[in-house]
Amino acid sequence: MIMNNVIAGQAKDLFEALEPEPRLLMGPGPVDVYPAVLRAMSLPMLGQFDPQFTDYMNQVMALYRQIYCTANHWTLLVNGTARAGIEACLSSMISPGDRVLVPIFGRFGHLLTEIASRCRAEVINIETEWGSTFEADQVADAIRRHQPRIVALVHGDTSTTMAQPLADIGPICREAGALLYVDATATLGGMPVEVDDWCLDAVTAGLQKCLSGPPGCSPITINDRVAEIINARKHVEAGIRAQDAVNADGAIVQSNYFDLGMLMDYWSPLRLNHHTESTSMLYAAHACARVVLGEGLDAGFARHRSASKALRAGLMAMGLKLFGDSRHRMDNVTGVYIPEVLGNGDAVRAHLLEDFGIEIGTSFGPLHGKIWRIGTMGYGCRKANILRCLGALEAVMRRHGFASPAGAGVDAAYTVYDA
Ligand SMILES: *Cc1c(COP(=O)(O)O)cnc(C)c1O
Repeated sequence: MIMNNVIAGQAKDLFEALEPEPRLLMGPGPVDVYPAVLRAMSLPMLGQFDPQFTDYMNQVMALYRQIYCTANHWTLLVNGTARAGIEACLSSMISPGDRVLVPIFGRFGHLLTEIASRCRAEVINIETEWGSTFEADQVADAIRRHQPRIVALVHGDTSTTMAQPLADIGPICREAGALLYVDATATLGGMPVEVDDWCLDAVTAGLQKCLSGPPGCSPITINDRVAEIINARKHVEAGIRAQDAVNADGAIVQSNYFDLGMLMDYWSPLRLNHHTESTSMLYAAHACARVVLGEGLDAGFARHRSASKALRAGLMAMGLKLFGDSRHRMDNVTGVYIPEVLGNGDAVRAHLLEDFGIEIGTSFGPLHGKIWRIGTMGYGCRKANILRCLGALEAVMRRHGFASPAGAGVDAAYTVYDA
């Protein structure tokens, strides 16, 4: 009797369709998804060897070569969020005992360190204060001192809203004979990521930032140098490998799921099965790339830059102070100090969400309770949203005791957009 009631009680909630309240996502990701991407995700399933589907895979490779500005053949998707791409690259590139240099300027440098350590690398760190980035010389010095085999570096670290300049670091690594891995999750599609021109050897991203897709898919690109290392470790699992296949001499990649050697066999004419490709995510990734390239990379970067400029002008006009080194801010997320009278800022964030349906970001680690992070990424990065966010923030902050000149934020943003 009791059990029936419980089941009946649960059933009512359980079988109700999900109907999330509409939100405007202006945090550091995930962000609102392009409508074309939502539509693509409702397309019918295809078999993983269906010629239509494998043709879509080839299209995805070609599209992401353009987004990454690379001729790299091995430009493909790893199933899983951005971290899956990071883990696939690092675990496939790093053999136990390899020396890996990880410059840390925020949370995601710590993540690269953690993943490289799990790959049994000998990890060397250099660190700089959150809110700053490295000079190319600092990285060059560390490379000279430690002679790493791999340098792993974040491009835009959303935790601090800083973008590490990479154009000079790639050539330094190449000259020193070190491979450069870059986490460009938060910048791809929002700021230039010039894989070939900057001599980046392996780069990974996710869909849920400036590509404006759902989290759950990681576009990656690796060049022939990296592919060679991976092929030298190739072990194809029994049951699918050809009878005469011989394993390579190099150390086996610890992870099966993230063994890029096996993934490359599926993304090649061999079409050797590994795991089932996430069909709907591939459709989503395809649609994201079409929207981004349809707008044009440069036009998209300019849109992100002007939105950030307008947002920042608005925040400053409201009497708020921006976080971090102004020379190296990302173009798609802004850190802003929380005024003291607003405590750790959580109440303001909660009311922005409840009363205006707008989400902005909190912060991690040393910045927790000190700054908010406001994202202007992908589909969400538009004038209407900047103005809505500034207007709402002004109203909510006033209710919580921080009064700024009425309309100052919106007016300042208008001025930037009008110019
Ligand atoms: C957001 C972000 C990630 C996110 O990783 P997920 O696995 O998708 O949660 C990784 N790296 C950077 C630099 C990011 O900004």
